Amino acid sequence: MHTTTAFIGLRCVDCGEAFDVETATHRCPDCDGILDPAYDYDAVDLTPDTLADRPFDSMWRYEELLPFTREAAVSLGEGATPLVECPALAEAMGVGRVLLKDEGMNPTGTFKDRGQSAATTAAVEHGASDVALNSAGNAGQAAAAYAARADLDAHVYLPARAGFTQKAMTEVHGADLTVTDPIDGNSQIGDAGAAYAEAMEEHPDWYSTKTFVTPYRHEGKKTMALEVLEQLDWEVPDAVVYPTGGGVGLVGMHKAAREVRDLGWTDELLPMYAAQAAGCAPIVDAYEAGADRHEPLADDEVTTACNGIAIPDPGASPLILEAIRESDGGAVANTDHEILDAAIEVARAEGLEVGATCAAAAAGAFTLAAEGEFGPDDTVVLLNTGAGNKDVDTLRAHLGEAEDGGEE
Ligand SMILES: *Cc1c(COP(=O)(O)O)cnc(C)c1O
Ligand SMILES: [Zn+2]
Repeated sequence: MHTTTAFIGLRCVDCGEAFDVETATHRCPDCDGILDPAYDYDAVDLTPDTLADRPFDSMWRYEELLPFTREAAVSLGEGATPLVECPALAEAMGVGRVLLKDEGMNPTGTFKDRGQSAATTAAVEHGASDVALNSAGNAGQAAAAYAARADLDAHVYLPARAGFTQKAMTEVHGADLTVTDPIDGNSQIGDAGAAYAEAMEEHPDWYSTKTFVTPYRHEGKKTMALEVLEQLDWEVPDAVVYPTGGGVGLVGMHKAAREVRDLGWTDELLPMYAAQAAGCAPIVDAYEAGADRHEPLADDEVTTACNGIAIPDPGASPLILEAIRESDGGAVANTDHEILDAAIEVARAEGLEVGATCAAAAAGAFTLAAEGEFGPDDTVVLLNTGAGNKDVDTLRAHLGEAEDGGEE
């Protein structure tokens, strides 16, 4: 296997058991917990100076902190996205600086590419011929693209509510797409998950690249934190606001922030704020209740149009809540109306295109600033997890509503 020098295997976040990368591929063989790539940090031969000499060209430039080598990576040039200054938003929020990490610049238009690049690389390293997952949409499209790149077959399960672009491009990349019917008129990611689980029973050789089933998606997404910190010259910002669904990116970024703090590149963690839609906010509810894990919502309780974060049962909530609390961050929910207003404000004030889901971060930052959580000298980073053009219908429809002066 093409593993990197410092990578020593997988550690279960629940029982703490360590496993060899050759034998463990997905969840913990002992307790079914989430497996997390582990490193011998003394063997990490990388410094900010070394990085400064490397081209800013892909997330694999951090290969010393990733499980697999850049040479072995299934890559489409993901990562190395811009961190764009947003002076008009900073002024409107009353904070020192707002920076937007523009993940819409990724090959398939979202940060899901980072996770699928790492997970598809693992699939190839394990000799898989097929990958499979269910998704709200963007991860399915990304999986189809990376499978095509690696010459694997992809089996993608999406709920009917997934966006047209995501469904269409999944098929354009040649994947086998199953769209679960809205049996009760309200098909959610869980219905797609049931169809996926049934297919996995029949095809135990398919290699799952599903959220927190593969140990490698959050590992790929952790490079977002490495980039943000490097782009800020290893000065830690006051907040990172992240549109949170399953929490893969938030957990991954928090892991990277811990790693570089322990390596001595920074002196503190990245304060991580989870932004959700009020129509599906299990993490915000758990955070406010002081709970260690979420209460799942029933499918018919999900009332947001923000597909990427319409995750009623985020299984990794203990890790998300721990990351938020350990990093001294927070959690915030906004209505769809506020979220879509924020998307349009970003597009008009800064010229930047943010997806409907992603605008939860902008709306959340406005709320946190208004509540006094952010001060006039603070630097606030917004994660734009995906491109605006993935959600044109939702954004355009909102213009009409907003101009009617329409409340919901
Ligand atoms: C998947 C997705 C999210 C949520 O990501 P997690 O890391 O699973 O919380 C947010 N925004 C967009 C655009 C997504 O596709
Ligand atoms: Zn375990």
